[in-house]
Amino acid sequence: MAHGIGVVITERIAVGAVRDNQIEGELLIDPEDSATDSLLGVPADLIIQRIVDLVRQLGMRDAPSHIGIGMPGIIRDGKVEDSPNLVQFKGIRMGELVGAAFEPLFGRVRVGIFNDADVMAAGIAARRGHLDRLIRVWTLGTGIGFGRYPYTSGVWEGGHAVVTLDPKEVFCGCGGRGHLEGIMGQRAMRLRFMDMEPEEVFAEAESGDTRCVDFVKLWHRALAAGTATSIHLDGPGKFFITGFNARFLNLSLLNEYLHEMVKLSPLQGYQTEVVPGGETVATIGAAVNAEQRNDRRTD
Ligand SMILES: [Zn+2]
Repeated sequence: MAHGIGVVITERIAVGAVRDNQIEGELLIDPEDSATDSLLGVPADLIIQRIVDLVRQLGMRDAPSHIGIGMPGIIRDGKVEDSPNLVQFKGIRMGELVGAAFEPLFGRVRVGIFNDADVMAAGIAARRGHLDRLIRVWTLGTGIGFGRYPYTSGVWEGGHAVVTLDPKEVFCGCGGRGHLEGIMGQRAMRLRFMDMEPEEVFAEAESGDTRCVDFVKLWHRALAAGTATSIHLDGPGKFFITGFNARFLNLSLLNEYLHEMVKLSPLQGYQTEVVPGGETVATIGAAVNAEQRNDRRTD
């Protein structure tokens, strides 16, 4: 079985050797303390060098057959077309640079660059034995990620799906109006409730505060709307929900709203489930996606 390397670049870097859809040995993290936004403003070539240094620490005896990297942004053919959360990567030909950076260490190795939400989807598919079917994953964090497995080239920025026509909905990090992330994202919730943390909003809703109760309904309706849109465009199937704000999710409320929004009988076979995600799963997914792309090439 081929062994590869998975890498995830988010607020920090995670690197692991992956074989048989599992991390072999240790997952290396840089920096180890979970400093948020630790990569903000760090030049792209320094981040790539830090990835090479981490891989060297893995002490692999043989060259890997593939290296997969997951990172935020719109990525096509190894190029980062845009990355609002890691702006230094915008326009960078990440695939070529990473390949060149590893050449002294391993020779020529195939490199695949993927959106971080898609590698999370691949990791969950691998962990759950779902590598043979379509799955979609919502990651509820600072922003809202939407990943899809199996990997295909294209754009599905589901976090920026328009879920309301209210022109006052302006809290999305991208600046677009009415977006899912503008309602559900951690950053957006903080902007909406200047006087309360998201934890307090959900706790106050439990105790009946009208403003918070209304928001919690809106939050669930927004996710149902984003999911319903995906079902209408891409068909039914399994939706996993992960990320640190999945703790706020009431699955039966989500399903109740979904039931109101999806009525066509061939589209009824959808399911929702909350799962743990995290860097380990995403790192495995990065390697899985890179390996599958290798397998599909014949040269
Ligand atoms: Zn947006």
